[in-house]
Amino acid sequence: MAKKIQAIRGMNDTLPEQTPVWQKLESLFRQVVSSYGYSEIRMPIVENTHLFKRSIGEVTDIVEKEMYTFADRNGDSLTLRPEGTASCVRAGNEHGLLYNQERRLWYTGPMFRHERPQKGRYRQFHQFGVETFGIASADIDAEVILLSARLWKALGIDEHVELQLNSLGSNDARALYKDALVEFLSAHVDILDEDSKRRMMTNPLRVLDSKNPDIQALLVDAPKLSDHLDAESQAHFAQLQKYLDVAGVKYTINERLVRGLDYYNRTVFEWVTNSLGSQGTICAGGRYDGLVEQLGGKATPAVGFAMGLERIILMLETLALNDDIKSDVDIYNVLVGEGTDLAGLKMAELIRTKLPQLKMMHHCGAGNFKKQMKRADKSGARIALIIGESELQSGCVTIKELQGNTAQQTVATDQLIKVLPTYFNELNS
Ligand code: ATP
Ligand code: MG
Repeated sequence: MAKKIQAIRGMNDTLPEQTPVWQKLESLFRQVVSSYGYSEIRMPIVENTHLFKRSIGEVTDIVEKEMYTFADRNGDSLTLRPEGTASCVRAGNEHGLLYNQERRLWYTGPMFRHERPQKGRYRQFHQFGVETFGIASADIDAEVILLSARLWKALGIDEHVELQLNSLGSNDARALYKDALVEFLSAHVDILDEDSKRRMMTNPLRVLDSKNPDIQALLVDAPKLSDHLDAESQAHFAQLQKYLDVAGVKYTINERLVRGLDYYNRTVFEWVTNSLGSQGTICAGGRYDGLVEQLGGKATPAVGFAMGLERIILMLETLALNDDIKSDVDIYNVLVGEGTDLAGLKMAELIRTKLPQLKMMHHCGAGNFKKQMKRADKSGARIALIIGESELQSGCVTIKELQGNTAQQTVATDQLIKVLPTYFNELNS
């Protein structure tokens, strides 16, 4: 037997049993973003490597060690997108969507990062993202947060997630803070690990989100970003909190939250859960007023977020909220006897035309009554439509409920379309 070829490590198949919960999540997200008036944008999965280096930053986990970069046949360096914001800004600039306009956009799709695969961390994973452009005030920061909060509510996981907020201030304020932080860190180099030493030189804020407990302990005494915020950023942050308060969204301020990407300023936030172990961030975002200009456009304020779908699905599974999400068929026909396959085929097509909301599975491959009823049960159908020789002769069909205990009834074929909806309450509501 030929050797089986397997999928790439960290890149998952989503099997038929799993897709209903994905579809549910996707449709809820679409519903929520459209209720806020956002429009979808679709970008390519591959971009020029420069785009990510320039936007995400050279000294970040993504650019330093996670990108899938390869040479195109003509020698160009291309990269499978590790995130969507850079592509979205690139597309916005390229097509003139951003200059002097307001935009509220969303996207979804696979992202690629060469990380060590583990629960909640994969090499191909999927995000929903929202990016808004052209609005500098804190009301839009609040809006994207409220939008995400609404999704948690719709999914029933709102009690299990917490919003963490911070402000990174202006570039100037951050530069001042960086100096203070570097001074502090330099006085404690003996405690720093190699990674933090390197970061101290290249991107000192990143030391703040080190996961090393010794460094976390050291940072308790470090200078605080909040003491270095400029007045405008302070006011912006206070205003954002007012909006969240009035909307009843709870949050905690996490001074160590700096985010792993370089382009953020002012607001940064994460939605975290403790029901997933160490991969606890299900959504992360913030303001990135400098990025559009940095990528060659005119200065444009912007704020957005991205959420990881695999982690949200894992949460639904952990909380057993996925149990009822199935995509069983509604009707299965059972056809026994000469000529019933023809009558059954016509009937199935008629049902699909007249009642397109129902999932009608047509029995293929003949077989005896028992075998066909087994198939009907296995399909999860609520009812079986049986055509045997006697039904065929009298122009009738027998309706048998597979779940529930209503007595079976035989109706004339031309009455079927009227009778069927009575078995499906949702069609009548
Ligand atoms: P982490 O700190 O967990 O590595 P990150 O800061 O790198 O996350 P972002 O770039 O902000 O993540 O991406 C937004 C969201 O996408 C994350 O909060 C997470 O839900 C999801 N995500 C990021 N990387 C992965 C991955 N490798 N596998 C699955 N989901 C991911
Ligand atoms: Mg990461």
